[in-house]
Amino acid sequence: MTTPKILIVEDEENIAEVLIAYCNQQGYVTEYFNNGKGVVNFVKQEHVDLILLDLMLPEVDGITLCREIRMFSNVPIIMVTAKSEEVDRLLGLNLGADDYICKPFSPKEVIARIQAVLRRIEQPKTDVILQSGFKLYKEDYVALFKGINIGFTAVEFKIFLLFISHVGRVFTREDIINNIYNQSLDMSDRNIDTHIKNIRKKINEIEAGVNPISAVYGVGYKFKET
Ligand code: CA
Repeated sequence: MTTPKILIVEDEENIAEVLIAYCNQQGYVTEYFNNGKGVVNFVKQEHVDLILLDLMLPEVDGITLCREIRMFSNVPIIMVTAKSEEVDRLLGLNLGADDYICKPFSPKEVIARIQAVLRRIEQPKTDVILQSGFKLYKEDYVALFKGINIGFTAVEFKIFLLFISHVGRVFTREDIINNIYNQSLDMSDRNIDTHIKNIRKKINEIEAGVNPISAVYGVGYKFKET
């Protein structure tokens, strides 16, 4: 991400000044509105990376603004409220804000929250793979086909993950072993053909005839997009 641009919407000017100073110190570019009017149009026309949005504002309040912005944009929004009791109510409204901060806050806390939200959106979700009706949760070793848990063993999951991450690429049995095994696995786990057979069988229990991993004669196997 290039220098993030933070839009600060805050009617209390002393608070706004502190926020702007801290954001700038952090290297963020800031834009500032001291009331709610014009904010929606601004967000429509200008790129912003995050909005710090005060709840109580002259002209148009934070809730209305958040709702209107969510009609057309997923830009991260951190809502700022004066009362901690308010957060529960705001959560209940399902505004789609990414985080909530209560006044009084330390500027340090605000920066930490901004950083956390920006980090969250910056990281592509690499832990889930979607392909040909399959959904793999890499960290949990869970694979679904058409929404049904296939029930792979850890070794089967690793093999399937290798194939689905490289659609169309041919792997020899040796490639597979080199890619997925560590020394601690015993030799019986190294029978790749058996694992592939079991992988197919489990998928076919969900839907007969589906065979995403096909044999490449004399070489090995590959994942075929269906
Ligand atoms: Ca206010």
